[in-house]
Amino acid sequence: MWEKGAVTCGYGEIDTQDLSLIGRDNGRTRMKTQLFKPGMRFFKGNTHAHSTASDGRLSPEAVFETYRATGYDFLALTDHWHVCAARDWRGMLVIPGAEYDFSFPTQVLHLVCLYRDEGDAAGIARGMSHTDVIRHVNQAGGICIAAHPAWSLNTPEFLKSLDGVEISEVYNTMSDEPFNAPRGNSESLLDVAAANGKPFRLVAADDSHPYAGEQCAAWTMVQAETLSVPAIIAALREGRFYATQGPDFHDITVEGDTIAVETSPVSRVTFCSNLYWVEGRCRAGSGLTREVYRVHPGERFVRVQLTDANGKRAWSSPIITEHLLG
Ligand SMILES: [Zn+2]
Repeated sequence: MWEKGAVTCGYGEIDTQDLSLIGRDNGRTRMKTQLFKPGMRFFKGNTHAHSTASDGRLSPEAVFETYRATGYDFLALTDHWHVCAARDWRGMLVIPGAEYDFSFPTQVLHLVCLYRDEGDAAGIARGMSHTDVIRHVNQAGGICIAAHPAWSLNTPEFLKSLDGVEISEVYNTMSDEPFNAPRGNSESLLDVAAANGKPFRLVAADDSHPYAGEQCAAWTMVQAETLSVPAIIAALREGRFYATQGPDFHDITVEGDTIAVETSPVSRVTFCSNLYWVEGRCRAGSGLTREVYRVHPGERFVRVQLTDANGKRAWSSPIITEHLLG
């Protein structure tokens, strides 16, 4: 049955105020949901970067300038166990953040946390459990992001246990070649987690440390009311964002059992889901800008992946679809 707010992206409901009834199809109400708000601006940002305040090579100011000069609207400086203050750096918003690490026998957890205010991190210290840190950050109105889960050797079971962490990096530049073993890409791992009931929303980030070419390579486009810390964090909570190395999503609309995507010109559009094989999920061509996909029986989530002519990718968050076929 269709219900108000039935179309979701990742965990929470998306834009329930934008849901509109557009008629009935075989007695079933068809609803149309746009996952992004028409006309609202997207802001470009990196949610994961380091400076000399921990193990990065550049000073905080040099990091800010690196991203500002490349056209970023916001940056979260996320040094290890060290929170930076919010500031306006020549028109670029700096969001308070930190990265906390936890070790387990066969894996690690690196948590990137963004705060509404640097003071909200008070009380977090090495030695705390990851569950206590996640609870603290959420109670302060902040956001927890699972960093580079493939690099961290995370298991789907462990990822599923992370209550209070609803966002993960699908791509982390520093965790990929030529900087590291090729584990920057967490697509497959996060698909397994989603198929097992943990559909993280997806960001992409640099995790910049040496500033040797990994900077300004993967980012997140966030659709927010204004360029401010509360507005960016609210948009991250509500799911109005996508991850990218270059291609752009302009619109994602779910109507009935179809998903329509409008994008910048790309060479491939792929509809990934929990199903092993689906006829027609891969679309290829030159200058593709609009594709429509019909959800198949058994598809509990669908996420959309773009690849442009240069091989650069963009990722939507998983769209929860298990209810769409009634
Ligand atoms: Zn990091």
